[in-house]
Amino acid sequence: MSGILVVAEIEGGALRPEFWELVTVAQQLGGDFQVALAAADPGNGAGEAATAGGQVHLVQDPQLADPWPEAHAEAVALVAAAVDPQVVLVPRTVLGSEVAVRLAVRLQAALLTDVTAVERSGAGLVATRPVFGGAVSSTVTAAQGPFVVVPRPHAFAAAPPGEAGAESVTHALSFAQPPRTRLGVRTPAADTGAPDIEKARVLVAGGAGLGGPEPFALLGEVAAVLDGAVAASRMACDAGWVPTSLQVGLTGKTVAPDLYLAVGISGATHHLAGCASAQVIAVINSDKTAPFFKLANYGVVGDWKDVLPALLDTLKARAAG
Ligand code: FAD
Repeated sequence: MSGILVVAEIEGGALRPEFWELVTVAQQLGGDFQVALAAADPGNGAGEAATAGGQVHLVQDPQLADPWPEAHAEAVALVAAAVDPQVVLVPRTVLGSEVAVRLAVRLQAALLTDVTAVERSGAGLVATRPVFGGAVSSTVTAAQGPFVVVPRPHAFAAAPPGEAGAESVTHALSFAQPPRTRLGVRTPAADTGAPDIEKARVLVAGGAGLGGPEPFALLGEVAAVLDGAVAASRMACDAGWVPTSLQVGLTGKTVAPDLYLAVGISGATHHLAGCASAQVIAVINSDKTAPFFKLANYGVVGDWKDVLPALLDTLKARAAG
């Protein structure tokens, strides 16, 4: 048992970007790393992953077309059986989170999730992870491997791709035991076409202070001028004003855009857990005691109905030259 196995995921024929953050973690932990890639159609993913420098182990099978956790966990377990890694790094995606727990059970491994820092300590690992919605940072020590580690998205910088790497080693998917689950995939109609807020470099996020769904159109106009996307607090999503795919926070998505403009959001720790890594945070809130102002780089105390149209006019004038 030695070395590190980095689990890569495919989306639209390309590697999901979390892969490069996991490569950084592997480099920080030191030692050789290899890559497990399970997909029905890996596209250029295996070639892309190989540029990170590790041997890529590809499991390609039609049963991996959908995010069926049991099949994907089986595929990664197959690679783990061949590689016998001490550390497995799994991305904290919807699928990765499901795979990680199954893998930890299969490998009888210590499971460290939502990790924001990790280092070796003798034969063990010491990891830092936020708890209680980010209000407290905890230190978790796992004395002995193997370890399954799930880094928090954007807690580690992405490693740059390198030169073309070696050919992949391929493995055939077979189930050690008959699968106990099947997967039926349905995409909620309301979410279709919603932008991926995890990839946007600018986010204009709205909360309960907007008072209803209509003002999100104005947020969309501001986002469009800034070449960004609209996001939301849980209150706005729970109210049905916008799809839940736009939710930022502990039970939503973790984002790290260049600019996060929060409008009518109080800044509860559960929300900040998802956006605190933004490069620049700007807040518009009518309550000067709103907790978001403590984290903000820029803040406007005022009613969004006054501030946002003026901001939009200014941005449009600048964009016009
Ligand atoms: P509010 O807290 O109601 O804040 C509205 C803000 O708008 C206020 O600060 C107010 O001053 C301001 N405002 C009102 N009118 C105006 C105006 N005209 N102009 C400008 N400002 C105005 N929340 C998330 O967002 N994401 C999560 O993932 C999440 N996960 C959670 C998980 C758990 C286990 C729990 C218990 C809670 C979670 N929450 C999450 C909920 C979270 O605790 C807050 O309740 C929520 O973030 C509040 O949303 P909000 O800021 O939009 O609403």
